[in-house]
Amino acid sequence: MTMAGAFPKNSKYDCIVIGGGHNGLVCATYLARSGRSVLVVEAADRVGGAAVTREFSPGFRVSACAHLLHLMPESVVRELRLGAHGLRLVADGMPTTALSGDGAPLRIDPGNPSALAERSSADAAAYPVYDARLRRLALALQPAFDTPPPRLGTSSWGDRLALLRLGWRIRRLGRGDMRELLRIGGMCVQDLLDEHFENPLLKGALGFDAVLGANAGPRSPGSVLTLLYRMAAAGAAGSSLAQPAGGLGALSDALAEAAIDAGAVIRTSAIVDRILVREDRAAGVVLQSGEQLTAASVVSNADPKTTFLRLLGTEYLDTGFVRRIVHLRARGLAAKLHLALDRPPRFTGLNEAALQGRLLLAPSLEYVERAFNHAKYSEFSAAPILEITVPTVADSSLSPAGKHVLSAVVQYVPYRSAAAGWEQEKERFTNLLVDTLESHAPGLRESIHAAELLTPVDIEREFRISGGHWHHAELALDQFMMVRPVPGAAQYRTPVDGLFLCGAGSHPGGGVMGVAGRNAARQILNGATHASHRRGRKTTPRTDAERATPANEQAA
Ligand SMILES: Cc1cc2nc3c(=O)[nH]c(=O)nc-3n(C[C@H](O)[C@H](O)[C@H](O)COP(=O)(O)OP(=O)(O)OC[C@H]3O[C@@H](n4cnc5c(N)ncnc54)[C@H](O)[C@@H]3O)c2cc1C
Repeated sequence: MTMAGAFPKNSKYDCIVIGGGHNGLVCATYLARSGRSVLVVEAADRVGGAAVTREFSPGFRVSACAHLLHLMPESVVRELRLGAHGLRLVADGMPTTALSGDGAPLRIDPGNPSALAERSSADAAAYPVYDARLRRLALALQPAFDTPPPRLGTSSWGDRLALLRLGWRIRRLGRGDMRELLRIGGMCVQDLLDEHFENPLLKGALGFDAVLGANAGPRSPGSVLTLLYRMAAAGAAGSSLAQPAGGLGALSDALAEAAIDAGAVIRTSAIVDRILVREDRAAGVVLQSGEQLTAASVVSNADPKTTFLRLLGTEYLDTGFVRRIVHLRARGLAAKLHLALDRPPRFTGLNEAALQGRLLLAPSLEYVERAFNHAKYSEFSAAPILEITVPTVADSSLSPAGKHVLSAVVQYVPYRSAAAGWEQEKERFTNLLVDTLESHAPGLRESIHAAELLTPVDIEREFRISGGHWHHAELALDQFMMVRPVPGAAQYRTPVDGLFLCGAGSHPGGGVMGVAGRNAARQILNGATHASHRRGRKTTPRTDAERATPANEQAA
């Protein structure tokens, strides 16, 4: 289906973007605004990728993967005029409340530590200091988000200057903060939080944000870095959790409007089967229908494993590069639970106003680590951690009158369930989740009209993300900045001329930010070419059976 655009079907485009996830749409808009003819080909019947709103039970709609908007920079919203294209927030600055297993819930607000003071005056005093310091450290990293990461060890002045700029920003922190960044950068978040706070509920909630979407627990080294990273992505204003009217799909619709307004053509239900390579350059795509579409460059919003192992083919890559992509860690651990409810849930100790914020079920760091333990052995957590929202409190358009939707990110849910496999385990796990929620919101079970659980396997299948991973590829020190997703493809360019990446698998990673899409567009417009990793030793062409195997299976 063609959504709109100025260029006729089957003409040669300047750029074809594979995938209309939010990053693909952002990339397409910047390219089209610069005068490029751009075609977006999206496999699903709607745009948005993992940022969509869809019906999961008759009359009940939900943001199917991402449900909170808080990482997209103001500059992207402004530059793409998303307000004029229909984006409207029904909730902003949503508060966080930590649910307690045995006591009253705790509201966490750095600007107003009075709720903390009721539990611990030491925590109330420590929190603003801790928050301000982490923000300063995060802000020193933040400008690195908006540019392609520099290449290491080149003689290019651009790369040297980018490294110098990063070093200078860290140097400008001053001796105390610089030392602290070095000290805590590789630490686990549990050690950091134990140094500052005493209340387990507060520590659990703060640690939750460090491990959300990651294959890590609070005792995993590097979990402070992922926390700093999340804070850096949120920018100077800090993380303000928001809910668009109509869910995250409305954001994607506004992005699609912006792309079309800029002149891009968007085709949905158009599954790319492979990337065309001619004379060592990406030259277009072949759709599953057999249709060929040609372009001067191809930009992939699909994850790196899908892009290189399935759509391009290892025959165009040297063996070292292929090995790095095969070993890229991309097994998701986050699932999504959707409940259609006959009435709003009643959480113990909370009034209905608190349902306008997000609720965290991570009552201590030990609880979070224990939840993670299971996943290490491919089991689902017996006591999982949850990020819960009730989007219908602020937006009644998502459900029939008087009814509600509960949307929860669930960790830790392994890609492979070691027991009987997800087909058999799903019902058991859904029941466990409902029991867990019921213990905090008595009566919830009897108000459930319908339930849907999306495991990482479902996310892989529905959203075409290898491993169903939040970030398309684990965000960890070894898959970070100038080595993200892998050396040789870390600046949005790839070993094949004319082929670029623009999705969450590239710098600065996942979350609904649009920054990877914007950076990729800038890189393409800079006209950079890159051949340092081009074909050395070729691998053998894939067999049909290999092409048919999901990219994530090939990595196993
Ligand atoms: C359970 C879960 C909850 C999350 N919650 C949040 C949250 O609350 N807030 C937040 O900021 N982030 C959240 N995230 C992360 C966020 O959703 C993703 O990081 C982000 O949406 C990735 O965007 P993207 O545009 O890079 O890729 P995607 O959204 O994955 O888009 C890629 C697109 O490429 C298309 N595609 C793939 N292969 C082909 C092909 N062969 N042919 C054509 N098209 C193809 C796909 O259909 C898809 O539309 C969550 C993620 C998960 C898994």
